[in-house]
Amino acid sequence: MSEDKDNAKVQMDKLVAESLKGREFPVNALFTKLSDITKAIADPAVKWSRSNSLWPLQFGLACCAIELMAFGSPRVDAERDGFLLFRGTPRQSDVMVVAGWVTKSMLPQVKRLYEQMSEPRYVIAFGECATCGGPWWESYNIIKGIDQVIPVDVYVAGCPPRPELLFSALLKLKEKVGGKIVENKP
Ligand code: SF4
Repeated sequence: MSEDKDNAKVQMDKLVAESLKGREFPVNALFTKLSDITKAIADPAVKWSRSNSLWPLQFGLACCAIELMAFGSPRVDAERDGFLLFRGTPRQSDVMVVAGWVTKSMLPQVKRLYEQMSEPRYVIAFGECATCGGPWWESYNIIKGIDQVIPVDVYVAGCPPRPELLFSALLKLKEKVGGKIVENKP
């Protein structure tokens, strides 16, 4: 009796295997589609929310920091695009505006602030000193551009750079974070 049962089970398994030949498992297909839908909706939503919630870190290094302060004035009106949410702690910030020259002695502190910022994090090199060392290019104690130590997303030219240019830089960063500007990587 038990042998008959075993035989019947083997026969049944064979029949099921035959009938499923050439067919994809429907549950798999359903999950593939659901994950595709989730990805299609989540990616743009995350990009949109990140690009519309840039929170710069409140810190300055040299004379460019005066331009950074002028950026907060009513003349520039940075609030119209929600750019005045400067945070007093790196843990609540995702944009570092390097405003001024970076000395070798100050470099570890700048690097530490960058590492304490929440990910994904972005950097704007504001002015010639932060971009390439500026007038102190040949100085023994000034870094020749902050991009030698941390990755930079947007560079702003000028010595001093106009505060309006920081507004343009943040708009460019917004486009980049939103996926509208794609980097050309070598
Ligand atoms: S770029 Fe010019 S204004 Fe800005 S920190 Fe350097 S020297 Fe000062």
